[in-house]
Amino acid sequence: MSVVGLDFGNQSCIVAVARQRGIDVVLNDESTRETPAIVCFGDKQRFIGTAGAATTMMNPKNSISQMKRLIGKQFSDPGLQRDIKSLPFHVTEGPDGYPLIHARYLGEAKTFTPTQVFGMMLSNLKEIAEKNLNAAVVDCCIGIPVYFTDLERRAVLDAATIAGLRPLHLIHETTATALAYGIYKTDLHETDQLNVAFVDIGHSSMQVCIAGFKKGQLKILAHSYDRSLGGRDFDEVLFHYFAAKFKDEYKIDVSQNARASLRLRAAVEKLKKVLSANPEAPLNIECLMDEKDVRSFIKRDDFEQLSLPILERVKGPLEKALAEAGLTVEDVHMVEIVGSGSRVPAINKILTEFFRKEPRRTMNASECVARGCALQCAILSPTFRVREFQVNESLPFSISLSWKGSAPDAQNSGSDNQLSTVVFPKGNPIPSIKALTFYRSGTFSLDVHYGDASGLQASKISTYTIGPFQSTKSERAKVKVKVRLNLHGIVSVDLATMLEEEEIEVPVSKESAAENTKMDTDGAPTNAAVPPTFNDSDVNMQDAKASDDTPGVENGTSDSGDKPVQTDSDTKVQAPKKKVKKTNIPVAELVYGALVPADVQKAVEKEFEMALQDRVMEETKDKKNAVEAYVYDMRNKLNDKYEEFVTAPEKEVFSAKLQEVEDWLYEDGEDETKGVYVAKLEELKRQGDPVEERYKEYTERGTVIDQFIYCI
Ligand code: ATP
Ligand code: MG
Repeated sequence: MSVVGLDFGNQSCIVAVARQRGIDVVLNDESTRETPAIVCFGDKQRFIGTAGAATTMMNPKNSISQMKRLIGKQFSDPGLQRDIKSLPFHVTEGPDGYPLIHARYLGEAKTFTPTQVFGMMLSNLKEIAEKNLNAAVVDCCIGIPVYFTDLERRAVLDAATIAGLRPLHLIHETTATALAYGIYKTDLHETDQLNVAFVDIGHSSMQVCIAGFKKGQLKILAHSYDRSLGGRDFDEVLFHYFAAKFKDEYKIDVSQNARASLRLRAAVEKLKKVLSANPEAPLNIECLMDEKDVRSFIKRDDFEQLSLPILERVKGPLEKALAEAGLTVEDVHMVEIVGSGSRVPAINKILTEFFRKEPRRTMNASECVARGCALQCAILSPTFRVREFQVNESLPFSISLSWKGSAPDAQNSGSDNQLSTVVFPKGNPIPSIKALTFYRSGTFSLDVHYGDASGLQASKISTYTIGPFQSTKSERAKVKVKVRLNLHGIVSVDLATMLEEEEIEVPVSKESAAENTKMDTDGAPTNAAVPPTFNDSDVNMQDAKASDDTPGVENGTSDSGDKPVQTDSDTKVQAPKKKVKKTNIPVAELVYGALVPADVQKAVEKEFEMALQDRVMEETKDKKNAVEAYVYDMRNKLNDKYEEFVTAPEKEVFSAKLQEVEDWLYEDGEDETKGVYVAKLEELKRQGDPVEERYKEYTERGTVIDQFIYCI
């Protein structure tokens, strides 16, 4: 089993693997630790990651970046609408209301879903891990932003399937950071809780989490975020500032030219980094547009002034996190700042003022998420022994259920009202299971929403249709529904059971009568209450108890009919024994915007085809390089060590042949198939091999003679 942690950043990704001696961040083909999140579509193949970044400038409209912003969102999403305005590639609305990315690939106009492109990037990260581990990688943990919706989470899982990965846990990025922080800390107390605020400012968003650490465990006390506050927003400020300046001074409008925009964006990003360490920085770009060179500069003070609207927003998530954790700044013992976007000095100032203490940078700001993910994967893996460390995660939003008709547990009032209950309130432990009991005469449906579904705007995640079923005992069947909040923070109704009571009179003792009934009591979180078909491998059964705290659910789980039977004799008596017959009922799932399994399968097949094409092209390049290398190598040798093993006319003919092939490589043979290069190399070798043979024979004979002399 592979133990891999992936930090899929909006700008760059990090791959960490667990080895026996610890967690390592591994290098990609370019020997760098950060892999750009870019998929570039070419005429013959795709270029992904570092290769994608290298080709972006030449092919900006077909270079897809920022896929983390596009995945699992409706086209009409206001955030997505804002984002696509500054993307160099084309995004339109698909027939299903979800975005489609346009790119020219293999010489044709094609469209791809963000999930597909996300999957392409994941397969590149998978490959990086595989090359380093020298083994196939399937199991992994992937970091996701805490604000990812149910649909975004599902889309990441689909993208992972497309890439041939099986995430054991989609872990919140800040939680991964907290884990990477706490697991190595040796001075944690059994009782005194250490409260640490983690602030992650990345490329496109800001996330805050406050975690309470005790010996061997951490508890997430609060999550907060700003979905659109990151390093790229500072770039955007500088971009608009200089674009306006250049329009004025040089009469060029970079917004009209994809490549010029991309070059200016890249230049202002560099400039911003220079400003993090210097009070002012120059900006010079040659031939930006209309063959004009541009020159300018900016002071850090002016940059901060221009960025005020962004900087002012940094405090919001900090305040929210404190309020949610119920802490004051004095209760927060330490502040750890991570994410490369936080390197802007003005951010440090804001954090220091807010927390009244200097934030620390003890974590590796760009690698901590990937390391935390790999640690989490190691914890879940049976092949690694990791120090005992419990992560108590909390749900960053509320989830409610709504339905038409009577309340759970109400046996008779069958009105057509829309009713709802919050099943998993904000802060609920992850994972968790809750049970609700309904009395229904036939098929019914349940809607899953964000927030409190009694509010009008609560948006719908999914609808579950439960049925058909028919009770033989009464008109209304008692149906127990299990709602699961899984390890990834995804909610589903994954089991519905019809419960029918049967009473039989048997002689029993008082104790065993009580025991029998207790075993079958609805809502009691005993293992016996879980039907064998129920997969509870990732569930903390204690969480099921939490259902007693939720009003609507509480009603659903207590039912007078199921109360333990009272008997008042110690001796054997004729007591009615309750048996509950359980019948599983079909549950049909409809998740709004999610891919159905058949679509995922199709995407898997497409990815396979594209990966094959990439591989063929890479091999073609290798074979072409082999022909070229042979030409140079043989030409050198003919003038050097092979010189005595070839006749003058032979050398002349062969040299001419080598020259002819070299010319061919730059002209007609520049763009040939793998087979043609293989044949060309063989053709050359037919002439070169006899010379090589003669040379080898001579040198080997020499060795034999040497050995012979040595023996004497
Ligand atoms: P996200 O976490 O939002 O998904 P990410 O993980 O890819 O994205 P990071 O790598 O943490 O993001 O941060 C990238 C951002 O940090 C970029 O906007 C980059 O310009 C910015 N950045 C990097 N170095 C510096 C620096 N020295 N000064 C200012 N900003 C910097
Ligand atoms: Mg990040």
